[in-house]
Amino acid sequence: MDTHTPEAGAAPSDEGAGASTFGPVGIVGAGAMGAGIAQVAATAGHAVTIVDPVEGAAVAAIEKIGAALTRLVEKARMSQDDASAALARITPAQALDELPHCGLVIEAVPENLTIKQGIFAELAEHQPSTTVLATNTSSIDIDAIADEVADPERVLGLHFFNPPPVMALVEVVHGKRTAKAYVEHATALMEAWGKTPVRCSSTPGFIVNRVARPFYGEAQRIVEAGIADAATVDWILREKGGFPMGPLELTDFIGQDVNLAVGTSVWEQTDHDERYAPTDFQRNLVESGRLGRKSGSGVYAYAADGAAEGAEPDLGLAERLVGGPVETDPLARTLAMLVNEAVDLVARGEASADDVDTAMRLGTRYPRGPIEWGRDIGFDVVAAQLAELDAAHPGGRYRPSPALTDGSLS
Ligand code: NAD
Repeated sequence: MDTHTPEAGAAPSDEGAGASTFGPVGIVGAGAMGAGIAQVAATAGHAVTIVDPVEGAAVAAIEKIGAALTRLVEKARMSQDDASAALARITPAQALDELPHCGLVIEAVPENLTIKQGIFAELAEHQPSTTVLATNTSSIDIDAIADEVADPERVLGLHFFNPPPVMALVEVVHGKRTAKAYVEHATALMEAWGKTPVRCSSTPGFIVNRVARPFYGEAQRIVEAGIADAATVDWILREKGGFPMGPLELTDFIGQDVNLAVGTSVWEQTDHDERYAPTDFQRNLVESGRLGRKSGSGVYAYAADGAAEGAEPDLGLAERLVGGPVETDPLARTLAMLVNEAVDLVARGEASADDVDTAMRLGTRYPRGPIEWGRDIGFDVVAAQLAELDAAHPGGRYRPSPALTDGSLS
């Protein structure tokens, strides 16, 4: 595989977007995401420089990548020659001005606007005007990150999922000032890297972290209201809904603090829209240190071997709830809210229906995309279920998106 472009920092052209089009790639931040993205870029044939100001961090990340590539060789998923070549393409650095002129720089430093703005300002100064400047932020507005950049049309989000070498999905996020040509080239490049890109605007939570909110929120509210215990809710979503994990066990896996922070960020960025309001149920878990698997207890308690205690569902209760009134049916209630959220995102032009479905299937491993699921249930049925929930819980959380009934998505 050809690795280097002769033209450092070559501008995106219309000839495709392989390694030779974009040239060297800079990765800023040598943490979990930076290392993973660097591995993907080097495997795709780019010369990669990883920058991290912490002494030894970039070198440690390269060692970690080496170990990951060795495991792929052992599993016969990569040849030794390709693994060695990919590793040899990666160089460590400690300062942004050590980066060569790159076709693309991806920032993956902590989720802090001030730090990111500083990095983008410096990158804009050191990199050629054609270098695509991307952020792996999960939640910060792309336009805010681009504020200190003189030419913000080249700033966009490339939101990889963890771990980047394994997860196919990448959300390509455009700010209000991002030029379409850069979005198209970044999308093509992600395809060339073997990823499945979806596009969306810089809306709070982008696609996945936005549409998934009610998956957690409805389960928490159902338990909070005493309609069913956690194990029964999780069982229903898994066994009747086909979700790989129930919402409550999933938040224990993610970390209650991490999940609450994402939800709170979306809620704050939407002027405290009731749709995204965090629950007291989850706040109490976090305040009492019950963060999930990592702290030994969360919604469930975990034995030393990792087994969840108290996770026995009440199957009789599950049978009574599913197919009953929507308010007490965890599956119908969750699906109605997922469909509503997805439909609303599409109706507001933030992302296409296909991209929303792809994102939710790949990013969260939902068994079906919510738009396709909604079409199957019937958007009018979903609208009626939401109207019932809205009557029982006024305040806006359950307001149906007008697009459910205006025929635009049928
Ligand atoms: P991390 O804490 O593992 O790594 C961050 C790295 O950035 C550290 O090595 C740190 O030394 C380095 N750093 C700090 N300041 C820096 C600077 N000024 N210049 C260069 N490097 C600097 O974080 P992470 O989990 O890899 O997350 C990074 C970004 O990716 C965040 O924006 C996060 O929201 C996003 N993200 C994380 C995940 C995830 O699951 N962890 C998933 C998608 C997106």
